[in-house]
Amino acid sequence: MGAVPFELIGKRVWVAGHRGMVGSAIVRRLASEACEVIIAGRDELDLTDQRAVLGWMHNQRPEVVVLAAARVGGILANDSMPVEFLRDNLLIETSVLTGAESVGVEKLLFLGSSCIYPKHAAQPIKEEALLTGPLEPTNEWYAIAKIAGIKLALAYRRQYGCDFISAMPTNLYGPGDNFDLNASHVMPALIRKVHEAKLSGGEVVVWGSGTPRREFLYVDDCADACVHLLRHYSDDSHVNVGSGSDVSIMELTRLVMEVVGYNGPVVTDPSKPDGTPRKLMDNGKLAGLGWTPKTALRDGVAKSYAAFLNGEGRGL
Ligand code: GDP
Repeated sequence: MGAVPFELIGKRVWVAGHRGMVGSAIVRRLASEACEVIIAGRDELDLTDQRAVLGWMHNQRPEVVVLAAARVGGILANDSMPVEFLRDNLLIETSVLTGAESVGVEKLLFLGSSCIYPKHAAQPIKEEALLTGPLEPTNEWYAIAKIAGIKLALAYRRQYGCDFISAMPTNLYGPGDNFDLNASHVMPALIRKVHEAKLSGGEVVVWGSGTPRREFLYVDDCADACVHLLRHYSDDSHVNVGSGSDVSIMELTRLVMEVVGYNGPVVTDPSKPDGTPRKLMDNGKLAGLGWTPKTALRDGVAKSYAAFLNGEGRGL
């Protein structure tokens, strides 16, 4: 890697969404950079309120912004709260990007998600697959908002010359995850369900058929990739942030059971949705920028289970 194109040293970096799983990992990661991290408490600042965000940013004068704040949730929450997933995310993006342009932020990283891609995108999914086909209906509300965020960042780049970039992380997991079974993603759900089945000696219930395939990335690896992109990337296209390999939900269930140490019965619940059949991203662009993930899936699951046992997380 040549000279660092963007220097974080001495910069005031606002991590919006610092209480979430990704935001808190980014705050942890930035602690080893010589920058000043600034955060806004949820009581202090409503990110959906454009006027409030503008005022706060004018006072705080961030030089770098990482937009990790979003209304997020698993397959069920997404499907049952379409207004919150679409409206709140559109409002948050609009407020923060508009504010960032207004106060002359030097660099902004917008975080999206792999669900922006078409349901039947060719695998592994390249960045260019965006908007080439219909979305997965169970999370299209969130996906539409995130696609709008990518385009708004690009629009600011084009029209005002702002150095706004976008990263699309795959399914993330790790300390600080949401373990509320009605709102969580599959990884924290399985950690909780397998743990509780171990305590009761009962069965582990896997939603859907267990056949969908998903890619998982440990959240601290994602945070490291975000810092890498801030420093080394400045271009129009969003960048996939993934681990490069996927597993079936049933394989993941078996892995979680090994880590937790439970060998009881497993059943599927076909009344729950499967969602998109496969979601594996092409990591080539990020690898080309000199970044690769460090945490193997088994190690990440073990760390996540330890954090769960330690009470780190929401919905517990
Ligand atoms: P997705 O990647 O947007 O589909 O979101 P999820 O992480 O919520 O779901 C991924 C896959 O795991 C889907 O096929 C779900 O049906 C399956 N799955 C199996 N058990 C569970 C569970 O307990 N909770 C969730 N959220 N998903 C589960």
